[in-house]
Amino acid sequence: MFSDVTLSAAEGRTHDGDSPAKSGAPAALPGFLDALIGKGLLVPTGVDGLYGRNAVFEDVVEHIDAMVGRWADGRQTEAMRFPPAMSRKVLEESGYWANCPDQIGTVFSFCGDDRSHQRLLKCLDKQEDWTEDVNPTRLSMTPAACYPVYPVMAARGPLPTEGRTVDLMSYCFRHEPSIDPARMQMFRQREFVRMGTPSQVLEFRAQLVEFGTATMRALQLPASVEVANDPFFGRAGKIMIDIQRRQELKYELLVPGISPEKPTACASFNYHQDRFGALWKIVTPSGEVAHTGCVGFGLERIALGLFRHHGLDVDAWPQEVIAALWGAAPR
Ligand code: ZN
Repeated sequence: MFSDVTLSAAEGRTHDGDSPAKSGAPAALPGFLDALIGKGLLVPTGVDGLYGRNAVFEDVVEHIDAMVGRWADGRQTEAMRFPPAMSRKVLEESGYWANCPDQIGTVFSFCGDDRSHQRLLKCLDKQEDWTEDVNPTRLSMTPAACYPVYPVMAARGPLPTEGRTVDLMSYCFRHEPSIDPARMQMFRQREFVRMGTPSQVLEFRAQLVEFGTATMRALQLPASVEVANDPFFGRAGKIMIDIQRRQELKYELLVPGISPEKPTACASFNYHQDRFGALWKIVTPSGEVAHTGCVGFGLERIALGLFRHHGLDVDAWPQEVIAALWGAAPR
C-alpha cells in the first residue's frame, strides 16, 4: 500500500545524520514516509526528521490535541503555552545534559564585529568552517513540553493543598535524525504535569493511563501500556534505565504498525518521584519536597498511527473515528 510513491534523487535526502550524502544517490526510503510525502501530508526539507505539514495533517493534529485536551474538562488545571525554545540555564540545571546529551539542541548566534562578519562571509563562500564567532545564546531547544514549567511553579511558593496540574503543549526538539517518520526531530507534545504528594501524582498518572487507553480505543488504534525507560546516555545511563524500569517510573502507550521494527510510543506516563521537586525546590503546604509526574501525548505520532491504520485518505476513515475526532460537525 505504501510502496508506490518514490522521491526523486533531486530531493537530495541524506540518511547518515546531518552530514551531506556521501554516495550521491539517496538510499531507499521506507514506504510509509514515501507515501506521506507523495500524498503531500509531510513536506520534505532536505533534513531527515524535519518536515512541513500540509493542512490535512495539521487538521488531524489539531483535533487530536483537542481530544487529548478534553481530559482537563471539569478538572482544576492551569493551561500555559511556552515557545519551542527555553532558558539554556534551566535546561543545564535540569540534569538533561547528564541524561540525554546527544539529543540536546542549543541555539547559537553570531556575536562578532564587522571584521569577523567579513571573515564569516568569506568562510561561507568557500564552504569552510564559519562558526568561529558563533556562540551559544541563552536559549536551548525545548526537549519536552514540561521542562520550562518547574521553575515557574517553584517561584510561586508552596503548592496549595490540592497540588497543581498544568496543561502544556509545545513543539519539542530531539537531535536524532532518522528516516522513520515516527522519529521526527521537531514534533508536538500535549502534556499534563502534576505536582503534589506522591498519592496525588500516582492517582493522576493512573487516571491518564486509563484516559489514554480509552482515547486510542475511540480512534480505533491498537495499543498497549508497558513499562518503559528514557534513552539515558552512556554507561551511567544503564543504571538509570535499570532503576527506572524496576520502579516502574515510566509507562508508554505503544501502538504497533507505525514503524516496521517495533511498536511506537504515542504517549508516556512519568513519575519523577521527588527529583524535580528537590531540584527546583517545589514544596507542599507542609514544607515537604513535592513529588511530580508528567504525561505527554505525541501528537504527530498519533496522527501517523491514524494514517497508518486507517489509510492516507481521511475521508475514507471509519465513521466512528471521524466522529471521535471532529464530532458531529462536518470536516
Ligand atoms: Zn514531561
